[in-house]
Amino acid sequence: NLEESHLAAETISGKKIKVYANIGDAKEAKEAQLRGADGVGLLRTEFCFLDRASLPTEEEQYEMYKAMLDELPEKEVVIRLIDIGSDKKVSYIPMEDEENPALGIRALRLGFKHYDSLLKPQIRALLRLSTSYNIQLLFPMIATPKDLQEIKNAIKKESNDLKSEGIKINESIPMGIMVEIPNVALLPELFVDEVDFFSFGTNDLAQYMMAADRTNASVSDYIPEAISGILKMIENVVGIAHNKGKWVGICGGLAADTSLTEAFINMGVDELSMPASVIPKMKSFVRNLK
Ligand code: PEP
Ligand code: MG
Repeated sequence: NLEESHLAAETISGKKIKVYANIGDAKEAKEAQLRGADGVGLLRTEFCFLDRASLPTEEEQYEMYKAMLDELPEKEVVIRLIDIGSDKKVSYIPMEDEENPALGIRALRLGFKHYDSLLKPQIRALLRLSTSYNIQLLFPMIATPKDLQEIKNAIKKESNDLKSEGIKINESIPMGIMVEIPNVALLPELFVDEVDFFSFGTNDLAQYMMAADRTNASVSDYIPEAISGILKMIENVVGIAHNKGKWVGICGGLAADTSLTEAFINMGVDELSMPASVIPKMKSFVRNLK
């Protein structure tokens, strides 16, 4: 029920979990607010880039992100940097034909290849919003500590540029990484000191664990087989993150699967992010758990 969905999700014995929404445009932001999302765990910024004929400018991005943030006043919103490339192609950025695009130049790898036209305007637009909204930054497809350092350095550089232009920014904007590449899921200790949070992308993590293309229906039977391994990885990451005072969320498809919710809560997962339509059902499910 819609009224109850605005209350916190807490089990009968008092264990809490944040129920956040995945959103991709202003309409979904509105829906998230209506359905009782406690915040946004994954704002997919791809919507700014897909289905258009030219690159969005810094100013256009600023306005598009602002329109979404205005739908969720006060709420914590985790914004993911561009995750285009692979199956999310755009016409105005030259993308080489790759044998295995899901393993190629995608997300931040593409962003750095076209830094001035892709990452730079996006980072600047988001930093400019960082003093007026409760935002956090999420980096997709991180594989190595070097990947993480590279994007953190870029943000530092853009922050300094903005400051020297006299623009105010939040200097301690929280930053986290997607856990969707097995190397990160297995070795969170390599990253934990450099992040504020981890967010499990179970869709890509399953595809890379099972060597089964998530867009290929002929191998889709492999994807659910990844669940046992993913649960083991989540438990390990939560232990290492909490030990350092960092939080862990799940924003891939498994976050919405109520057959796993109790296990996630017992492992100490802090936040689940899912399509807004599922939130009322999820919150009432949690309230009925012991
Ligand atoms: C994921 O990989 O699980 C995820 C949340 O990101 P996307 O589905 O956008 O790749
Ligand atoms: Mg992903």
